[in-house]
Amino acid sequence: MVCPYLKRGFMTAKCTLTGQVVNLKKMPCLKNYEECPIYKAHVTEKIKEVKEEVEKREAKKEEQPQEVPGVSCEDCLYYSRITHICIRLKQRVDDPKRPPCGGKYFRKAEV
Ligand code: SF4
Ligand code: SF4
Repeated sequence: MVCPYLKRGFMTAKCTLTGQVVNLKKMPCLKNYEECPIYKAHVTEKIKEVKEEVEKREAKKEEQPQEVPGVSCEDCLYYSRITHICIRLKQRVDDPKRPPCGGKYFRKAEV
């Protein structure tokens, strides 16, 4: 298997990771490229980036407001049904069933 980062020209071969011409007699670009230290470092870095991205997304998910039994912004004094804004927190409410305040400032609106 040829390394996916090898770019071959008429008489030359270039590593697109380093931007340098490679000596195919010395480097494993045409066969065991997984053993190439440049390839290994690149893959390790990519795996690290993906892991960090997944961790970031999961952390963000955990930050999302959760459902609070018995609390809905729609029943709260501070919620505007017209603008979908909580005037207590001064922020838009994406899902009234998941109050951004976590129920902390909920005040039942008089009907
Ligand atoms: S095997 Fe190594 S030197 Fe050759 S193209 Fe791939 S990363 Fe570059
Ligand atoms: S105070 Fe809490 S429950 Fe009331 S509208 Fe704002 S986020 Fe919703």
